[in-house]
Amino acid sequence: MRRLLILFILSVFIASNLAHAGDIKAGAARISITPTTPMWLNGYAGREAPATESIHEIWAKALVIEENNNSRVIFVTTDLLGLSHEVVEAVYKALSAKYGINRSQLIMNASHTHSGPVVWPCLDVIHDFNLTDQGTVAAYSHTLTNNIIKVVEDAMSNLVPAKLYSGHSTAGFAINRRNLRDHNNNGSTDHDVPVLKVATPGGKILAVLFGYACHNTTLVDDNHLFNGDYAGFAQIEIEKNNPGAVALFLMGCGGDQNPEPRGTIALATKYGKELADAVQTAMTGTMKSVTTPVRTSYVNTDLNFQPFDLAMYQKDITGDNKYFQRRAKLMLEAYNKGWDVSKFHYPVQAVRFGNDLTILALSGEVVVDYSLKSKKIFASENLFVAGYCNEVTCYIPSKRVLKEGGYEADESMVYYGLPGPFADDVEDRIFKAIRQVLKNTGVKVEINK
Ligand SMILES: [Zn+2]
Repeated sequence: MRRLLILFILSVFIASNLAHAGDIKAGAARISITPTTPMWLNGYAGREAPATESIHEIWAKALVIEENNNSRVIFVTTDLLGLSHEVVEAVYKALSAKYGINRSQLIMNASHTHSGPVVWPCLDVIHDFNLTDQGTVAAYSHTLTNNIIKVVEDAMSNLVPAKLYSGHSTAGFAINRRNLRDHNNNGSTDHDVPVLKVATPGGKILAVLFGYACHNTTLVDDNHLFNGDYAGFAQIEIEKNNPGAVALFLMGCGGDQNPEPRGTIALATKYGKELADAVQTAMTGTMKSVTTPVRTSYVNTDLNFQPFDLAMYQKDITGDNKYFQRRAKLMLEAYNKGWDVSKFHYPVQAVRFGNDLTILALSGEVVVDYSLKSKKIFASENLFVAGYCNEVTCYIPSKRVLKEGGYEADESMVYYGLPGPFADDVEDRIFKAIRQVLKNTGVKVEINK
């Protein structure tokens, strides 16, 4: 009798655990973040007027996937050039207070559209705002923060039972733009289109999270209309193909990747369609079922700059290039006030679903070498590598790009208002952090390799 009772209790225990194991819930939502007043677009130094109208709405979107409080993740994607530390921290603090999430459970991403409003201080050296413009930019950041919090709250309130599926496809319009600038490099690209499909058990598609490694720079500096560039068009197309679904674009390691050719709305539409078709191909093909737990990890690593070059800044501040002068002003101010500008904190993050899918989230304008190398080293993982996650503070060159020099290695640091270039160990330090977050999420890796 006692044995029977124990068996009964055991079977109830197993049954209840089975019922809960893999009980995934998901919710998605979107909110327009199109400015309602004229605003300067970010990304090109050559623009001479703010944007007043849009081609289509730009969006902040959220996707929440959760099993329980220890097994969940929130994705936030935005049609913006890059988010600031200030916005990201404010969003995290609000969500942490409301839902008890830890830092590793929130991944934010910017599509890097060059047709989105300025989120100060991302790429701030290209601008020299007057009192009114600076006020408009600050007000936009404030509204943006509230909008992102709101869209996550909406996604949280939409949670329903869900199933997850992973697939891959390819799109070929990204080229290695450093080749065009004669850096004599290997022309590497990453044409992978990773897709995470979120559907109800009945098969209704709730959300489509997809990625691609390419600058959203189809439109150039003669464009003065808010829009999400090719990624904006792709999301519209995917939402049209899958009524009721929220399509979220997670920008990949496209720091040195451009669409080619570029320059017209027709081309941005065409690339968007090409990417949306690739996503549809992945979703109509055989997709891999994705399970739980949802394990997440977030670490900060220090990236070192090359030694502070006082003489160079003293020369630049009296030179004839206004961007170099503005950067020199920042550096000399730091020097005179004793602020440490020898390094900065770089967040590296990962989310791993069961043993089925791992999303690596790197910050900044990461060059393609990082995704290619990650996929090579961790070949047994089904990897989805994103760049431009959390804050976008500058370009992240690889050892190779640093050695070759040029815009992504050096000159871009001027427009980001940072000292530079990075010290030679930048790639090694980032890969050490990548190994750490992968290990923390259950991947078998050696840290000191
Ligand atoms: Zn860029």
